[in-house]
Amino acid sequence: MTPTHCPYCALQCGMNLAEEAGGRLTVEARPDFPTNKGGLCQKGWTAADLLSHPDRLLTPLVRGSKDSTLRPATWDAALDRVTAAIQASQATYGLDSVGIFGGGGLTNEKAYWLGKFARVALRTPHIDYNGRFCMASEAAAGLKAFGIDRGLPFPLEDIPGAEAILLIGGNPAETMPPIMQYFERQRENGGALIVADPRRTATAEIATLHLQLSPGTDLALANGLLHVAAADGLLDQEFIASRTTGWESVRRIIASFWPDRVERITGVPSTQIIKAAHLLGEAGTAMALTARGAGQQSKGTDNTLAFINLMLALGKAGKPHCGYGCITGQGNGQGGREHGQKADQLPGYRKIDNPAHRAHIAGVWGVEESTLPGVGRSAYELLESLGQENGVRALMVMASNLAVSAPRALHVQEQLRSLDFLCVSDIFLSETAKLADVVLPIAQWAEEDGTMTNLEGRVIRRQAAKSRPGEVWTDAMIVTALAERLGAGRYFPTAEPAQIFEELRLASAGGAADYSGITYERIAAENGVFWPCPSETHPGTPRLFLDKFAHEDGRAKFHAVHHRTAAEEPDDDFPLYLTTGRVMAQYQSGTQTRRIDALLKIAPEPFAEIHPALAQRFGIADNDAIVLTTRRGEARMKARLTPTIRQDTIFAPFHWGGEACANNLTNPALDPTSKMPEFKVCAVRIERA
Ligand code: SF4
Repeated sequence: MTPTHCPYCALQCGMNLAEEAGGRLTVEARPDFPTNKGGLCQKGWTAADLLSHPDRLLTPLVRGSKDSTLRPATWDAALDRVTAAIQASQATYGLDSVGIFGGGGLTNEKAYWLGKFARVALRTPHIDYNGRFCMASEAAAGLKAFGIDRGLPFPLEDIPGAEAILLIGGNPAETMPPIMQYFERQRENGGALIVADPRRTATAEIATLHLQLSPGTDLALANGLLHVAAADGLLDQEFIASRTTGWESVRRIIASFWPDRVERITGVPSTQIIKAAHLLGEAGTAMALTARGAGQQSKGTDNTLAFINLMLALGKAGKPHCGYGCITGQGNGQGGREHGQKADQLPGYRKIDNPAHRAHIAGVWGVEESTLPGVGRSAYELLESLGQENGVRALMVMASNLAVSAPRALHVQEQLRSLDFLCVSDIFLSETAKLADVVLPIAQWAEEDGTMTNLEGRVIRRQAAKSRPGEVWTDAMIVTALAERLGAGRYFPTAEPAQIFEELRLASAGGAADYSGITYERIAAENGVFWPCPSETHPGTPRLFLDKFAHEDGRAKFHAVHHRTAAEEPDDDFPLYLTTGRVMAQYQSGTQTRRIDALLKIAPEPFAEIHPALAQRFGIADNDAIVLTTRRGEARMKARLTPTIRQDTIFAPFHWGGEACANNLTNPALDPTSKMPEFKVCAVRIERA
């Protein structure tokens, strides 16, 4: 029996893997683990089916030429090919012509090793990861407002004690079911749950109040709530004066967000806006939690800042059972960026353009600070540069299925095809791997050790429960072997996760995300350790900001943010809103979950949710084949009629590729600060197929 964690989302539910006769592993929930407390969703229960799946890649694949097919090859042949392609690109186009695209599912050790590999072995600035598409806006807002970015600055255990909670753009009842026990306890304690979402989701169904706002109007809603709170005397003036800066500029902006105006912008009745403001303002303790609905917009950072403004003005931050938090999506979306996978960051949440931060990391790595590259391109900007002059010509992709998960996916596929060389590491032949020149088969979650950082900032440990099959390697083995071939082997002396973690601890020491006091032994003994943890005698930090915020003056900052429309609004040609998201029985691009029979039975095919009144206007019946079209492309799926969605909005899950890919439709308009694409709102046309 091996205690470990689910391979999917950021709740990182604790589970045991038990071995049956014949070597098959089965999943048992861990009642003793403090986050899921014995709960698992259907994805977790079936996760072990991935390990012995017949589609599993067991040997490297190499394409002889662009027109030929992928064929099995030895590791030596595959790695020689990758090395030659990197060196050829560097020699012809320079160091910046090689790029890396990582994943939010990689362990901290792998994310750290990959970031170091980019900067030390490849010496390229161009590394980013699909976590940029997950919670970059919330991260940027957290840094601006609080001086530090940690998804939840408090443990889940604080949720039941909040007298009021505002949940914006998240549907954890479907995407993260075990977390609902905290919200259910909050309701049992008499707390109010307010859900803001264009859909009456399973989460909205259990809410005290559902604010069914129009896509892309979150910021106006937040400013409207703050307007009411200010007008009705619900603000905490003492907190504003003693623990924050910048209130005056926000006060001037929210003055014009009176409820009738906000109703016209958002579609939320003014009576509901007033009621929500009073529920939050009159509660002794309150939280605002955002998820992808608010963050995945071209103004996602400002959306988040507006909800942070609300909590600061109400004095509901920096206290137990209070605050703003982000519900992270991907398994290691948090740790993945803390340790160097993001184009602008170095390990320990250091900044790559800060001389002191660069000097510290260069010292740990044993290189000259001047040899470290600067800030690289963000994820979508990196994809836009592929194959272009002065762009990336050779790309390594680890644990990411861009061909399905990136916005404007058809264009991204063209960009991937335009590369001189593409190497993809994955466990299955994903839609992205099918485009590669070299495919490297890698170990899965239960076949290697490593740490993850969950949505609370709790560092937890995944343990290997079985050996790797076939000729499968770990990502760290690949990085170490390539570094050796590229002449940088002395900087990558190991592929052992425990040894890499020891170096990560040194690199993170003194940084915002300080892991230096965290050890594998402590993680096991304490059911995870919260960062920052600057020494082995430090208890870890479950709650941030109790005494002060992380800015130099110890105060949180208000930010004056204005409502503006989405980058693309409905018009005569594309008269409706499209929004995208997840369903319970599938995960992200579906590379894993679309291969699990039990999950396919629950969520077998792509669909679009349409209000019956809207469907009638277009002569569409339930289950009809439909075509959705935007300025980026089209996608075909079945119509699912439901009165739970707004009449001006269509919802499509993004778990499928090919002609059903919802990301064929989405808009890559970027948030200027976080560089988050606008996955959550664009203009769409609907027709029967
Ligand atoms: Fe896995 Fe997330 Fe489901 Fe828990 S909630 S079992 S971590 S997918």
